[in-house]
Amino acid sequence: MAILVQKFGGTSVANAQKIRRAAERALKAHKEGSQVVVVASARGKQTDELIADALEVNPNPPKREMDMLLSTGEQQTVSLFAMALASMGQKAISFTGQQIELVTDSFHTKARIQSIGADRIRQKLDQGFICVVAGFQGVDEEGNITTLGRGGSDTSAVALAAALGANYCDIYTDVDGIYTADPRKYPKAIKMDQVSYDEILELASLGAGVMHGRSIEFGKKYNVRIHVRSSMNEHTGTIITREVPQMEGILVSGATCQKDLAKIGLINLDNKPGHAARVFAHLAAHKVSVNDIIQTELNEAKANLSFTVAQADLDAAKSAIEEIRKQVGCEQVKISADIAEVSVVGVGMRSHCGVAERMFKALADKNINIDAITTSEIRISCLVKVKDMDTALVAVCDAFELDKPADKRKTV
Ligand code: ADP
Ligand code: ASP
Ligand code: MG
Repeated sequence: MAILVQKFGGTSVANAQKIRRAAERALKAHKEGSQVVVVASARGKQTDELIADALEVNPNPPKREMDMLLSTGEQQTVSLFAMALASMGQKAISFTGQQIELVTDSFHTKARIQSIGADRIRQKLDQGFICVVAGFQGVDEEGNITTLGRGGSDTSAVALAAALGANYCDIYTDVDGIYTADPRKYPKAIKMDQVSYDEILELASLGAGVMHGRSIEFGKKYNVRIHVRSSMNEHTGTIITREVPQMEGILVSGATCQKDLAKIGLINLDNKPGHAARVFAHLAAHKVSVNDIIQTELNEAKANLSFTVAQADLDAAKSAIEEIRKQVGCEQVKISADIAEVSVVGVGMRSHCGVAERMFKALADKNINIDAITTSEIRISCLVKVKDMDTALVAVCDAFELDKPADKRKTV
């Protein structure tokens, strides 16, 4: 029997009516012959509200306690969801992360999944139940509740689909699928019928909040067929897939931006083998995730090294750098806190030139200064001032005609 995982995001379960509607969708799939596992997020903006509650009692709450608190949002949804199914005459059972043995590391508020038991789910599916699992949460080896980072229910769903060998993982959300850019920031964006794992992975890590980045890593590794679609209608959304040859013909598939970044520059560092490794090992030990890294040699003796971090990690990064700077002979540390990043992504970039030039020209035409540029095989990112970010995104989207279907865009 086919197994289907259906994930419902916060807006799709925001109130009783929406929960019932989502439950009807799960029931329909069950009646059509699938074994159905639902993964649900906290209702509406509840996670934000719980964070605000925590900050009211303690501006710097212990992370373990944050996870205890935040996990309650999802627990409420799944019990309500199972009750809705019961009212429709359907056998249903809800589970927390702990109950399905979703084991993570102990890195509270950003934990990573290590294993999923899932036996209990299989048993209940075989008995005809719809299983409703709390997304976003797990448990560490010591039995502490953990959470997977904001937006982490996507990852719970895809990881569960992989663990169960599910045929499909449907991600129900408040947009019709994955668009060429966030439709809230670029209203002319159009929906993509399909996108490769690599492209959406880049887009997600560069700010496109539509999918949690880790979920795509699981999808790619375990070949889970992910369908991102609207919970408000029956339309086909976006299929996340391995690359197909026609994707190569598309120069840029999507664009995205992110703020809340800070750039840290180590000026006049001793230019010696092993220094960069020491700096980044030290940052990693402080649990700082580093984004773009740029190193420039000034002369034989000295170099500059800069990188970006999320603003939330800035304090940790600053103390890590303070501890190590003398050891690497760094003369000055420069911090810019009002940094944003605008990126374009597309597997077709591998085989086309001229993408960088078109992007830089679009920004220049709007008189936007580029602070730094980083690239990978399938993306180009420019750091700009926060005040320029929205204009920069629109300019770049227009330059790559992201308001038109792929086959109607100019290629070079
Ligand atoms: P959910 O609660 O269902 O997980 P999210 O708010 O996490 O929903 O993700 C959906 C939102 O992602 C959309 O409302 C949209 O504003 C935003 N988004 C950002 N980038 C994109 C994109 N490229 N395509 C579609 N939506 C995007
Ligand atoms: N409720 C969590 C959040 O708001 C997880 C999720 O929605 O995916 O981040
Ligand atoms: Mg989400």
